[in-house]
Amino acid sequence: SLALNKEIYDVGSLGAGAGGWVSKCEIRPNDPNLPKKIFAIKTLPPGPRDIELKELIINERCNSPYIVKYYGTFRHEGNICIAMEYMDAKSLHEVYNRVKSEGAFLHERVLSEIARSILLGLKYLNAQRILHRDIKPSNILFNLNGAIKLCDLGISRDLDGTLASTFVGTRNYMAPERLSGEKYGVNCETWSVGITILEAAIGEHPLPEHDEFVANYDKLAPPQLTDLPDYGVMWSPAFKDFINQCLKVNVNVRPSPTQMLEHPWIKNQQDKPIDMGAFIRRVWQ
Ligand code: ATP
Ligand code: MG
Repeated sequence: SLALNKEIYDVGSLGAGAGGWVSKCEIRPNDPNLPKKIFAIKTLPPGPRDIELKELIINERCNSPYIVKYYGTFRHEGNICIAMEYMDAKSLHEVYNRVKSEGAFLHERVLSEIARSILLGLKYLNAQRILHRDIKPSNILFNLNGAIKLCDLGISRDLDGTLASTFVGTRNYMAPERLSGEKYGVNCETWSVGITILEAAIGEHPLPEHDEFVANYDKLAPPQLTDLPDYGVMWSPAFKDFINQCLKVNVNVRPSPTQMLEHPWIKNQQDKPIDMGAFIRRVWQ
């Protein structure tokens, strides 16, 4: 393991993205009788992203069971290190790929629980006047207790913030109104939830290649479950309707994340209890 400083040790890579990389870390107190603290550090090389660091402050005021905890930021060898809660059961991206590798699909009851947690996280952020802006499978994290949390609010802004136009991210999850550069609000998140849940359900990204989609999004019909191959899975009408509501191209008729919590596919499944901890431990056992 690599010592970042006297107390913080990098004990293994958790993955890398476009902007940086994430490691599992330990704080080893000088007193060996004290417990080690485990957390995750996201490292960003210095550069234009520096400006976004200020925005990370908003993470400090987030305190929700649906948002990964943010502990603080420090510099190390010129890089920016963001310390956060370690989630020990990987992201939705890895979870659905694992299920797919076994020739299976995520059960609708599991999907609706994942969708509910994402929507509750977004509802919380909305109450704080924060847009997440980067909902996608790799930013939905699990732990072995069955908790499901949103991470990477680093590129989020306050709803009335002004830095929006400086950010160009992965576009495949962006709502049409964002791609066309219009003003956008909380309903853009609903679109990203729809793409994320559809991707987890079918085991692959449902939209055309990034560039093709960006060039043609105004001509393409949004993906609907009814248009997709059925993959041998019988999706319920309620699930299809949930996806169709999320993927309304017209932002004015697309519900907000908070409204989507009232959708029958989310509400009615509440009568069927589910043990997400047991589910996720089975996935990774
Ligand atoms: P992008 O850079 O486009 O946002 P990304 O989300 O895949 O893509 P990162 O945010 O750098 O890239 O994350 C890399 C990987 O690290 C993720 O796939 C995720 O599985 C893992 N990861 C991120 N944060 C944590 C965390 N707090 N605990 C555990 N694993 C994490
Ligand atoms: Mg990420």
